[in-house]
Amino acid sequence: MKQEFEDERREVLSAVERIADAGLVAGSSGNVSRRITTPDGDLIAITASSVPYHRFTLADVLVVDFDIEPVVGDGIPSSESLTHVAMYRERPDVGAVVHTHSLHASAFAVAGKPIPAVLDEQVVILGGAIEVAAYASSASEELARRAVEALGERAAVLLRQHGVVGVGRQLEEAVAVVELVERVAQVQALAGMLGGAVELPAEVVARERQVYRMLHGFGPE
Ligand SMILES: [Zn+2]
Repeated sequence: MKQEFEDERREVLSAVERIADAGLVAGSSGNVSRRITTPDGDLIAITASSVPYHRFTLADVLVVDFDIEPVVGDGIPSSESLTHVAMYRERPDVGAVVHTHSLHASAFAVAGKPIPAVLDEQVVILGGAIEVAAYASSASEELARRAVEALGERAAVLLRQHGVVGVGRQLEEAVAVVELVERVAQVQALAGMLGGAVELPAEVVARERQVYRMLHGFGPE
């Protein structure tokens, strides 16, 4: 019988519900995927394109290979599938990818302003500052390339004029990453009204980055 990867697809569905409940997405914006490792190579379970979140069901979570060829389901995979796959290819530690258009993070993305390391958990969970990838059209290969470049070894990146991509070792972690990005963006925006945030001392960032790197299997710097 053909493998339907129902458990993995259910996990993606519950992540979709979580980011929708958290108010991180509106309409059908944003998308979620997780890596599926099989003896025949890696696949991804990913949300279908253009399905409003309030109508999302298990049938709207598809499985495709790294060439975005369908394996399970007959919807159209997310328009940002190329960016998701690029992150799985580049980062073996990444098991899940979540893309949102959350409000405050998007404000930094349109302003083209990276968010420096201002909160301890930002460094431990996200790996440090949140950089902004150079502009490229939605769904393009160029966007995928630039997003991967600006992400580097960290867990989150802003897409210029667009939104956020967060990655994690598993889906739960990737969801926590995009939630934290939005919170960091809110704090940074509010601090801006109070005269500007003060960055964490460099030695604290360096120490906390070691924790992040160890968790993600990068080894010491
Ligand atoms: Zn988007």
